[in-house]
Amino acid sequence: MSKHHSLLQSFGAVMVLDGESRRIQAVSRNLNKLLGLADTELRAISPATVLGKRLSQRLRQELHGRQRLASPLAFRRLHDTTRLQVHAYRTHRHVVVEIEPLSPLGKRRLLGTVNERLMRLAEATHQEELLDYLVTAVQQLTGHDRVSVCHFDSDWHGLIVAEAQGGHLPALLGQRFPASDFPITLRRTYERHPIRLIHDASAHAEPPLPCTPEGESVDLRHCFLRAPAPERQRYLQRLGVRGAMSLAMQGDTGLWGLLFCHSAAPHPVSPPVRDAVRTLVQMATQRLLLLRARQEARYLQRVQDSLVLSTNARVEPQSPVELLSAQAETWCSLFRAHGVALWLKGSVYADGHTPDAAVVAQFVKRLDKAHRHSGPWCTRGVASEPLTESLNMPDQCGILAVPLPMSVAQRGWLIFFRPEQVETLYWAMQPTSAPLPPVMVAPSAAWCEEVVGKSEAWQRVERLAVMDLGEDLTLAISAYEISTLNMHLERERKALAAANQRLEQLAHFDPLTQVWNRYRIEQAIDAELVAAKRYGAAFALLLFDVDHFKQINDTHGHSVGDDVLVSLARLVETSLRGCDHLGRWGGEEFVVLATHSDMDAAVGLAERLRSLVATLHVSGLDQPITVSIGVAIWQPGDSCKTLMARADAAMYRAKRSGRNRVELAEERVT
Ligand code: GH3
Ligand code: MG
Ligand code: MG
Repeated sequence: MSKHHSLLQSFGAVMVLDGESRRIQAVSRNLNKLLGLADTELRAISPATVLGKRLSQRLRQELHGRQRLASPLAFRRLHDTTRLQVHAYRTHRHVVVEIEPLSPLGKRRLLGTVNERLMRLAEATHQEELLDYLVTAVQQLTGHDRVSVCHFDSDWHGLIVAEAQGGHLPALLGQRFPASDFPITLRRTYERHPIRLIHDASAHAEPPLPCTPEGESVDLRHCFLRAPAPERQRYLQRLGVRGAMSLAMQGDTGLWGLLFCHSAAPHPVSPPVRDAVRTLVQMATQRLLLLRARQEARYLQRVQDSLVLSTNARVEPQSPVELLSAQAETWCSLFRAHGVALWLKGSVYADGHTPDAAVVAQFVKRLDKAHRHSGPWCTRGVASEPLTESLNMPDQCGILAVPLPMSVAQRGWLIFFRPEQVETLYWAMQPTSAPLPPVMVAPSAAWCEEVVGKSEAWQRVERLAVMDLGEDLTLAISAYEISTLNMHLERERKALAAANQRLEQLAHFDPLTQVWNRYRIEQAIDAELVAAKRYGAAFALLLFDVDHFKQINDTHGHSVGDDVLVSLARLVETSLRGCDHLGRWGGEEFVVLATHSDMDAAVGLAERLRSLVATLHVSGLDQPITVSIGVAIWQPGDSCKTLMARADAAMYRAKRSGRNRVELAEERVT
């Protein structure tokens, strides 16, 4: 434990009790003076002598099983007008009691002012307005020469973003403090002690506490009264500050910033004023986070709105090129980028200022290897980033890339590019990680640094938004791919249907007459046989053959013969009922399958067809065309073969009997 850990500031006094809070073990030397006690041997008196019986009892009760008092206790010693405030906490063996005089300032009046200020803070609608109001209110409350808000960036450099002046300390607004001014140990301290008060950075600290009767020195690291460490003292001196108070502004992910109150002269701040400032800072921080959350939500909404994709794309999917050319400008302005590239299946689509396609491809290849998770990747220093430093992209300084999970095997990438943004940083002191030199120079002009080779930083909300955009884009591109695939499928389906139709035509139709071929009519007869067998539905076959066809061929030529066949088939087919079928059996022989027909109906049909055919006129042919028809009626037990054999026999009978006739087949002899 270094020596200063047991040094205290003198605006309050400390009393160390045993773990049971029954005996005094040590006191700071200023205790007697503070309490107006006569110099007494400490072991002779009890805590009750110092604090009064009631208070010391209450202290014991409240610290029972607890690490520290929930809130300070106020008390007044008998025959004494000064009010005092007591705070207490446990170390591993002791109870440390801190005693501080309460100034007579009216607490009620203070409460009124603070309430009014809290209301004003709660009404602020912008961060700037809020912080300006906060520093002004705090400055008025404490009377410090300068009250500033210092906001930390992601590297823990601090930037003074708001300031109120009430004295002669130089302004710090817009200046930066290097991260080395806020080492992790210091930042951690603010988690435990959100408020730090230094009455006088140059004051000599109270001499260390005497050792306890057991000879132990007491660790006062968590004491509110602890004296500043020598390096802090020097730091403040270097800033020209003697009276200082600082308060933590806790964000949702850590220390958002600090509120500094500085005075060139020693500056006490009484406990009620401290409490008031603390309340204001807490309220302002809450409000700040709320405003930021709202602003982020608005930004995210704007990004979402830019994805007309979600609504439009599903109705009318756009190709990646169309998407990019429609949206690139909006996206670039939302993400403060000067170029955007889309990497999909080995192709680069780009808009604005982007590197060559080959360089993008190289970059994506490295990224795919190095960055396996689904979040975005970003840099603001392309030339100093190991992944990109050897790539040739002279116009780029910042890259924000988000993977598009198009498929398990291959990811796409949406990549934004930012140009260099030369920035001038005004450092309140020269950044250094080395310990500060012991001899301090009075702060001269701020140290100014030109930052080159960097783009603007990618904000957290931008990294969030780019993920939203990536998801939506993935959906939109998938929708497009599905719709194109569907189009192909539809085209192929149509082609297939046409081919099938052609095939069916070939398989089932006679190419000359376009009526069913033998194969198809046989199928139909077989189907009818099954129905007849099952339901007993009678049907008939009519087999007819053109009379003296050979002669027609011989006299007028084969093609006239063909014409005869075609005309004949057309004529017969159009005169049939929808449930009857015509097929070409072979050569100039045709079959009519007459369903639901008994003998009378079948013979009637045959007669009708015979006389109809006789009316047929084929050009180039003067003689009439006639047919001989054999009619066979289904009988139980018939097959296609038996049925046709009977029809054939009947037809030949018709031929023999002089042609242009109808003959009914004889019943099958069973
Ligand atoms: P019948 O009255 O006894 O039936 O006498 P026919 O001349 O019709 O006798 P046959 O059945 O022997 O003759 C059929 C002829 O039909 C023989 C063949 O050359 C002809 N033929 C067969 N198929 C076709 C065809 O597709 N087109 C043409 N033009 N002629 C065909
Ligand atoms: Mg014939
Ligand atoms: Mg024939």
